[in-house]
Amino acid sequence: MSAYDYLIVGAGLYGAVFARQMLDRGKRVLVVEKRGHVAGNIYTERVGNIDVHKYGAHIFHTSDAEVWDYVQRYAQFQPFINQPVANYKGEVYNLPFNMNTFARLWGVARPEEARAIIESQRKVLGGKQPENLEEQAISLVGTDIYEKLIKGYTEKQWGAACKDLPAFIIRRLPVRFTYDNNYFNDTYQGVPKDGYTAMVERLLDGADVCLHTDYLADRPHWDAQADIIVYTGPVDAFYAYQYGALDYRTLRFGEETLPTENYQGIAVMNFTDRETPYTRIIEHKHFTRAEDPKTIITREYPAAWQPGDEPFYPLNDAKNCARFAQYEALMRRERRVRFGGRLGRYCYYDMHQVVRLALDDAAKEC
Ligand code: FAD
Ligand code: UDP
Repeated sequence: MSAYDYLIVGAGLYGAVFARQMLDRGKRVLVVEKRGHVAGNIYTERVGNIDVHKYGAHIFHTSDAEVWDYVQRYAQFQPFINQPVANYKGEVYNLPFNMNTFARLWGVARPEEARAIIESQRKVLGGKQPENLEEQAISLVGTDIYEKLIKGYTEKQWGAACKDLPAFIIRRLPVRFTYDNNYFNDTYQGVPKDGYTAMVERLLDGADVCLHTDYLADRPHWDAQADIIVYTGPVDAFYAYQYGALDYRTLRFGEETLPTENYQGIAVMNFTDRETPYTRIIEHKHFTRAEDPKTIITREYPAAWQPGDEPFYPLNDAKNCARFAQYEALMRRERRVRFGGRLGRYCYYDMHQVVRLALDDAAKEC
């Protein structure tokens, strides 16, 4: 008999929710995490009164009431509506694309006027159904917004031409003909008052957790510890890259503490021109209206993923989706291994989707 019922590889959100569900059913759970901390990419660190989102800005948003109620059990949420702005060579526009953006760009005041401009700019597509990100963007918001607010940002973020990227990436953003700057359409939105790390620690309460532990470095040893393995790392690494490596994008974070109370007046400012090497500046204190005489900002520099880097964004283009399908055939054959999370499923999930997936997957365990 193994010492544990479940070995969970990765102490990110998926692993933590899955662990919680199993612990609540009386199962014995061991979690191994190769980083020196829990919480994966949602890890936050408290500096003075400020929670620093160490792996990029994280705002929890969902319309799934069950997921929202679930996370409330592990953290008190501060209401926060994400209303980032885009900075294009010093011109500042509201996001997502809405009447405030159109008014600033074209001097229009009413939805009908904005629709007419977009309609006339969309003509460059000649009535064609959008097949890539560029065509999808022009079809949604016209050429002006595509050129100023999408093209440069997207090409920096993904390291590829918009013509070569899948359309679904841009469909993540709402387009509205109302004066509404809420970046998300979801019913519930917020950030944990005491940070995501504390939330994940509560989820993991009762599990044995080994940090600084790479499961793949000694797989036979860890496999012997439990009956079932839940793997939330990159699926291609699990299979020793036998069908080749999947592509990811990574980010480098440039963090700075500044002796000023308020640097940019907002939590998230996007830099949408091609020349600025970073895509966003995050000013962390604005997520929770933290009072502190200093401020902490982080610049996000997108980069091609190399072995050893954190694989932040799966690149779900046609080539990689086909490669992932090969791995999926192997995954389906596994009897005692489950794959979960953004990396285990090679999918661009947000936090609420990861919670939903972990709850559903855990419910399937008998
Ligand atoms: P991860 O957090 O990646 O956890 C996987 C864990 O497994 C990691 O800790 C890793 O170290 C560990 N691991 C991997 N391999 C091994 C191994 N061999 N041995 C041991 N441990 C291993 N979502 C939102 O809802 N709102 C947002 O505002 C938002 N902003 C984001 C901003 C950025 C920059 C990024 C990159 C993502 C953002 N997301 C956001 C998505 C969010 O980060 C993910 O949905 C969530 O973190 C996924 O959790 P996970 O457990 O699947 O993966
Ligand atoms: N995007 C853009 N301009 C912006 C913000 C986003 O073109 O100012 C595009 C870009 O392609 C990005 C996608 O919209 O990858 C999704 O944006 P989101 O903010 O959801 O990205 P994430 O938070 O996942 O990095």
